[in-house]
Amino acid sequence: MTSSLKQPTGDATAGPDVSAVVTDVIADIRANGDDAVRKYSAKFDNWSPSSFRLSAAEIDEIIAKVPAGVLDDIKTVQANVRGFAQAQRDSMHDVEVETQPGVFLGQKHLPIVASGAYVPGGRYPLTASAHMTVVTAKVAGVERVTACTPPLRGEIPPATIAALHLAGADEILVLGGVQAVAAMALGTESIGRVDLIAGPGNAYVAEAKRQLFGTVGIDLFAGPTEILIVADEDADPFVVAVDLLSQAEHGPDSPAVLITTSAALGQRVIEHIEAILPGMPTNDMAGPAWRDHGEVHVVGTLDEAYGLADSYASEHVQILTRNPREALDKMRHYGALFLGEGTCVSYGDKVIGTNHVLPTRGAARYTGGLWVGKYLRTVTYQEVTSQAASAELGELCGRAARVELFEGHARSGDVRAAKYGGAPLPW
Ligand code: NAD
Repeated sequence: MTSSLKQPTGDATAGPDVSAVVTDVIADIRANGDDAVRKYSAKFDNWSPSSFRLSAAEIDEIIAKVPAGVLDDIKTVQANVRGFAQAQRDSMHDVEVETQPGVFLGQKHLPIVASGAYVPGGRYPLTASAHMTVVTAKVAGVERVTACTPPLRGEIPPATIAALHLAGADEILVLGGVQAVAAMALGTESIGRVDLIAGPGNAYVAEAKRQLFGTVGIDLFAGPTEILIVADEDADPFVVAVDLLSQAEHGPDSPAVLITTSAALGQRVIEHIEAILPGMPTNDMAGPAWRDHGEVHVVGTLDEAYGLADSYASEHVQILTRNPREALDKMRHYGALFLGEGTCVSYGDKVIGTNHVLPTRGAARYTGGLWVGKYLRTVTYQEVTSQAASAELGELCGRAARVELFEGHARSGDVRAAKYGGAPLPW
C-alpha cells in the first residue's frame, strides 16, 4: 500500500526540444569543423578565445593561482579514486583455457587508445568529474586523454584545470556542451577525434553523446542527477532532508525522492526541507527541483520500499534504515548504493573514491556507472596446435556452415580436415 505525501508536479524529461538543437549543432560541426565549434561556443557560452586548447604555460599559470590546500585536497581525492579504480583493474583477469587437447581460447582486456573526458561546468565547476574521467582512464592505460570543460560564466575554472592536469590529461580544452562532445567525436582541423567519450553533463551533453554513439563509443547515459532515499522510522529526518537537497541543487531538473515506512518521518522531512530551502545559497536550483520533482511516498513495509525504489532505477539510492546492508540483496536497479547514515551521496560525488559518473533516467536497468572496465575492450583469441583437433573441428565446421548455406566457410573447415587426416575434400 503506497500513499504519497508529495507528488512531482513537473516532468523531468520536458523542456526545450533538446534533441533537435543537438542534431543541428552536430550536423554543422560535421560539415564545418572548427568554424562551427567556435560559432556555437560563442553562441551558447559567449566564449571564443584564440585557442580552446590551453598551452603548458597557461596551465602552469592557472595552477599557480589555486590555493595549496585545494591542490592537496585534489591530490587526496584523486588517490582515493585511483586506489579504487586500480582495485577494479586488478580484479579483471585475462583468461586462457584449453577446451580440448590442443585447442586454446583466450580473452584479454585492451585499453581504448584515445578517450575524451567531458567535465561539466555550466552551473558549477565540477572538479570531481576530472578525477572520475581522467584518473580512471589513466588507470585503464588509455594513451591519450583529451579533456573538455566549459568556461564558468566567462572564466576558466582553475581548480578543474588543476585537477585535470594532476590526473594526467594529455590535453585540456576550455570548451563545453554539444560543441565539445561533437568536436571530440568527429574530430576537426585542430581537435583530434577520440575513440570513447566519458563524463556526465546536462541534457544537451547527454543527448549529444547519445546521438554520436556509434561514431564514437560512450560510457553511458549520465544526465541530470537523481537521488532516492529509502528510510525507516529510525532515520534522522533532518539528515534525510539535507541529503535530498544535496542532490536537488544540481539543477531544476534533478528529481529527489523519499520512500519511507513512516508517515511521521516523511512529514518531518518535508517540514525540514521547507525550513532549509529559503536560506540555502543554491535555492535557485534546489527550490524548483524540490517543488517540481520532489516526491515523498509512504509504504507499509521495507520490502515494498525496495520494490518501489527498484522501479525508479535511480542514479543514487541512499538507505537510511536499521539494517542498510540488506539492500545489497533486496535491490536490483540503481547506479550506486549508499548504505547507512555514515556515508552519503556527497561523499560519492566528491571524495570517497567510487566513481560519480552514474546512469540516469532509468539507464541503471541496463548499465552500471563509469569504471575502469568502460575504458577496456575485452577481446578474444584462439589457437589450435593439435592437427587431430583441427581436423575434427574442420569436419564439424563444414557441416555447420553448410546448414547456413555458407559454402566458403565450409571449405575453410574442409581443407583443414583433409590436410590433417580427417575427411577428404568433398569438392
Ligand atoms: P554542462 O557542462 O553539462 O553543460 C554546460 C553546457 O551546456 C554549456 O557549455 C553550453 O554549451 C550548453 N548549453 C547550455 N544551454 C544550452 C542551450 N540552450 N542550447 C545548447 N547548448 C546549451 O554543465 P551544467 O549545465 O552545469 O550541467 C551539469 C549536469 O551534470 C547537471 O545536470 C548535473 O546533474 C549532471 N551531473 C550528472 C552526473 C551523473 O553521473 N549522472 C554527475 C555529475 C553531474
